[in-house]
Amino acid sequence: MSELSLAYIFHQHQLLVDENFQLPRVESLASDLYFHAGDQVIARDLREDEAIPQGLQLVPIRQLLTLWDTQQFEYASRAIQLLEWRRNHKFCSHCGHQTEAHPTEHAMICPACRYHQYPRVQPCVIIVITRGDDEILLAKNAKNTTDMYGLIAGFVEVGETLEEAVRRETFEEIGLKLKNVQYLASQPWPFPSNLMLAFRAEYASGVIKLQEEEISDAQFFKFDQLPEIPFKGSIAYAMIKHVIEGHPVADDTREWL
Ligand SMILES: [Zn+2]
Repeated sequence: MSELSLAYIFHQHQLLVDENFQLPRVESLASDLYFHAGDQVIARDLREDEAIPQGLQLVPIRQLLTLWDTQQFEYASRAIQLLEWRRNHKFCSHCGHQTEAHPTEHAMICPACRYHQYPRVQPCVIIVITRGDDEILLAKNAKNTTDMYGLIAGFVEVGETLEEAVRRETFEEIGLKLKNVQYLASQPWPFPSNLMLAFRAEYASGVIKLQEEEISDAQFFKFDQLPEIPFKGSIAYAMIKHVIEGHPVADDTREWL
């Protein structure tokens, strides 16, 4: 019998864990994704006919974000993204031939034309905007049905710097101009394959004008009169706390504060 592997087994956006929210050890399968060198760590999707073993449970990944430390969450996040990428690159995007997994690195190779496909991340900026010493801009996403207010965010476009993306997204979504744009920190975010790049900026000029398909409300809130904000463990929460309380966004181990 082979040595048991620590396993990330996913079913949609849920992960199989034990009653203490820790990963199970299972026998590995030939089709598993080996994604952590030097240690027996595998990742795969729950097979269709596979029952959930006794003592294990499926827990939404977003819930694990609040229970796990940053590094545990980042490993899980990497596993989800690599599986998703492998699922979406079964064929060569150059010639259409079926691809094969590279034996030692994360690449899908085409046996016909040798084209290598590597996982990609989508850079996405997220911005905390302040006005004066005691106001923060918070916005409600149009798709959000709760009362939660978050931060302005959006994908970086081809040929654009991160700072340009910060200014463009803010202007498009709420019509404001910014000054003193500063980088803060980053967080891989697996829904789907985003790299969240956190910036802070100050209000420069303009009046709030909503892009209504994206944002249903946006306002400057006094620091001591905040609405409901994103959950602890998210980069948005750490960014909001950073501007209000002045401590860093993350510590040296990248634990969100
Ligand atoms: Zn090919």
